[in-house]
Amino acid sequence: PLRSGQTGSTAHCGGQLKDELNKLEELFTVSTGTLKKISNHFVKELEKGLSVEGGNIPMNPTWCMAFPDGHETGTFIALDMGGTNLRVCQITLTEEKGRFEITQSKYRMPEDLKTGTADQLWNYIADCLQQFIADNHEEDQLSHIPVGFTFSYPATQDYIDHGVLQRWTKGFDIDGVEGKDVVPPFEAALAARGLRLKLTALVNDTTGTLIASAYTDTEVKIGCIFGTGCNAAYMENVGSIPKLAHMNLDPSLPMAINCEWGAFDNEHLVLPRTKYDIHIDETSPRPGQQSYEKMVAGYYLGEIMRLVLLDLHDNSKCGIFKDQDISELKKPYLLDAGFISRIEEDPFENLEETKSLFQDTLHITLTRAELEFVRRLAELIGTRAARLTACGIAAICNKKGWKTCHVGADGSLFTKSRYFKKRQAKALGEILDWGEGKGDAVDDPVMVLPAEDGSGVGAALIAALTIKRVKQGQV
Ligand code: BGC
Ligand code: MG
Repeated sequence: PLRSGQTGSTAHCGGQLKDELNKLEELFTVSTGTLKKISNHFVKELEKGLSVEGGNIPMNPTWCMAFPDGHETGTFIALDMGGTNLRVCQITLTEEKGRFEITQSKYRMPEDLKTGTADQLWNYIADCLQQFIADNHEEDQLSHIPVGFTFSYPATQDYIDHGVLQRWTKGFDIDGVEGKDVVPPFEAALAARGLRLKLTALVNDTTGTLIASAYTDTEVKIGCIFGTGCNAAYMENVGSIPKLAHMNLDPSLPMAINCEWGAFDNEHLVLPRTKYDIHIDETSPRPGQQSYEKMVAGYYLGEIMRLVLLDLHDNSKCGIFKDQDISELKKPYLLDAGFISRIEEDPFENLEETKSLFQDTLHITLTRAELEFVRRLAELIGTRAARLTACGIAAICNKKGWKTCHVGADGSLFTKSRYFKKRQAKALGEILDWGEGKGDAVDDPVMVLPAEDGSGVGAALIAALTIKRVKQGQV
């Protein structure tokens, strides 16, 4: 058997299964030419998003208007509402440059909260915060601690301590929150528990990642999340944001932009969508939204694999899972991105782990040919995602004319999938024409590096920077 290297494994599955695989190879492989075309269109969409008319990509001004200098100090509460966990952190930025101390607790976000009511959501968050404070504080120490709230969904902000949710993403579907400021109901839930905390900054995880990474690495210009969702933030200058012109701000001021690039190509002009991507979109709670995210984010990758397998079982003569009970495979979103990366990391020689994964999760026993098939499928899905994310990074660099920079990145795909980083770097090199010897994630002109904790430390830093700006009487 062939070893599975960066270029992918060769599946030795027979006849018709092999034919199906060839078709999938074609369907899921994104050529250099296509990457370049997508990235060029991406540059235009970034610009459109900053214009008065707007475009697909929201390009939200965040009112985070400075990089940290490393000398920020103080104690903050950071609240990180992610897809799976709610994290409460107490962070002290210490006198020592670029250093911090952190105490944190994680609370699992119950699955049904994502489709529950707004009251349930805010009460749950406030309860967790109350619990954390009860465990860590004397009641009277409380009232002066500023809160940075990492809310990782698209929000329109006129002020840094407010934000109107544009739409839920990543499978969230809670009525009565979209189109409204999320801060008042959050603060009301705190007040109802007698918690006298003040929200200082509402922060996107990408902005937090940008700022937290820049705290320790001054070459960082972009913050990205490649996880359950996918998105980026970068530092723009006010003069390049036509939709802020009416505010008469100093054009040379920096302004972090939360791109919300998950919405890229919602009009379907350039992304090579398959029928599986279209199915995911159409059956999602928000059809027509987050077209790019639905092809590259962890929330969707396992579902893409499930849909391919189900389609082959139901509609092809390749005989996959013949005589097996596939009822589990019919359950939407049963597979997650971890499922895919575990298959990819399984030693190709025996694919034992893949075998047990299918047995345990789907109650299906795979033949050697099927094992090799799903391995290659996992690689195709993971590789397509990683390569497509490079289009967005290259687009920001090209828009800004940055030939070199660091990108701070976080999220499960980036930190946990063994191949994601290399595949993304290779694609970046192809788009940006780095030539031989570059694009291997070692010493590349644009280096995507593991970020500091953006949703915790980043949120604390942004709260600190906000307090500093207010003290100096700035906007
Ligand atoms: C959200 C973004 C967020 C990203 C990563 C997307 O679904 O719209 O606000 O930054 O996920 O968490
Ligand atoms: Mg997060």
